[in-house]
Amino acid sequence: MIYLDNAATTPLHPAAKAAMLPYLDTAFANPSSIYTPARQERKAIDEARQVIAAAIGATPAEIFFTSSGTEADNWAIKGIVEAASGKKHIITSSVEHHGIFTVCEYLATQGYDITYLPVNSDGLISAKDVEAAIRPDTCLITIMLANNEVGTIQPITEISNITQKHKIPFHTDAVQGVGHISVDVDELGVDLLSLSAHKFYGPKGAAALYIRKGTKIAAMFHGGMQERNRRAGTENVMGIVGMAAALKASMEELPAEQKRITALRDKLINEILTSIPHTQLNGINGDKRLPIDARRLPGNVNISFRFIEGESLLLYLDMQNCYASTGSACSSGALDPSHVLMAMGLSHELANGAIRFTLGRENTNEDIDNLMAILQPAVQKLRDLSPLYDDFKNEQK
Ligand code: PLP
Repeated sequence: MIYLDNAATTPLHPAAKAAMLPYLDTAFANPSSIYTPARQERKAIDEARQVIAAAIGATPAEIFFTSSGTEADNWAIKGIVEAASGKKHIITSSVEHHGIFTVCEYLATQGYDITYLPVNSDGLISAKDVEAAIRPDTCLITIMLANNEVGTIQPITEISNITQKHKIPFHTDAVQGVGHISVDVDELGVDLLSLSAHKFYGPKGAAALYIRKGTKIAAMFHGGMQERNRRAGTENVMGIVGMAAALKASMEELPAEQKRITALRDKLINEILTSIPHTQLNGINGDKRLPIDARRLPGNVNISFRFIEGESLLLYLDMQNCYASTGSACSSGALDPSHVLMAMGLSHELANGAIRFTLGRENTNEDIDNLMAILQPAVQKLRDLSPLYDDFKNEQK
């Protein structure tokens, strides 16, 4: 199999698996109990909190465990607006993940005013636009660190210079960034940051929200005293321990892996663009050839294949045991073209013909070669069946 959908989820890191195994077996105590095995579970959670804090330049008391990146995103937004008594304006971008987008749409039905900032053709928002959108009643700005579909990395530090000047809480959804590029909450200047284990070779169902000390935020759940009274519910000890082990291993591997995966990405982009006609790279460096600048995630390749449907190409690749995606895993199955590609100004045809290949630590040069051997004939076959391609060829005559 050729797995090229690492932005949807990643395989478990062996270090995470090893750290988690005892929790499927003898280590089952409730970390809130007071006897010895329970205290060991508590200690494991505390150690995991330290590892995760260290990986993003935070203090352990600023890390709050959640069940998913989606929950961290929901909490950041709903918790901040609830604590913001009376202020009802939120600024976000038009390319956010549904974990942000849908919460904003919901809040709009509850009397909140949402500004969705536009992006340019690279998928970048402008810090100037952020500043221009600020109003006296703005209570939250939430802009993702790295886009899940096209891999564009936003100018978060530039934006935080503005949010700090205006004293407005600033959240970033860093689910696609953490473990893949270096992330430091002070360098970024953010007040809240979401991360999710299954995107960096950890287990599904484990994630965290970083909340800068002093940030006013309402609790996510009410119940027991877990997560310092802010997110009640017995902790997912196995998931938390696995997340920390995965992040520790990813951070150790990051310098070498970032280079290796970037080289694989550039090879794949170059081979598709040079060997398959009528293709375009979406995102940073869309109109240019190599080298690609650092504002694109190392593992992201998003290509539009003209005259065909991305979904059809995916199904064809699936039959050859090659797995990719047309965009966000959460919206696949939806027939609407990607809101991200549409916001970047792509036509319906190009947005519908887009495929996202995302590379990870298990991918090799051979995977790229094997993919190319399948991809070229697949695209040709689908184009041969395409009325759009027929029209194009007739126009060329
Ligand atoms: N934010 C971004 C940018 C994502 O890519 C994802 C997952 O695809 C999420 C949030 C949601 O994370 P989770 O799958 O842990 O709910």
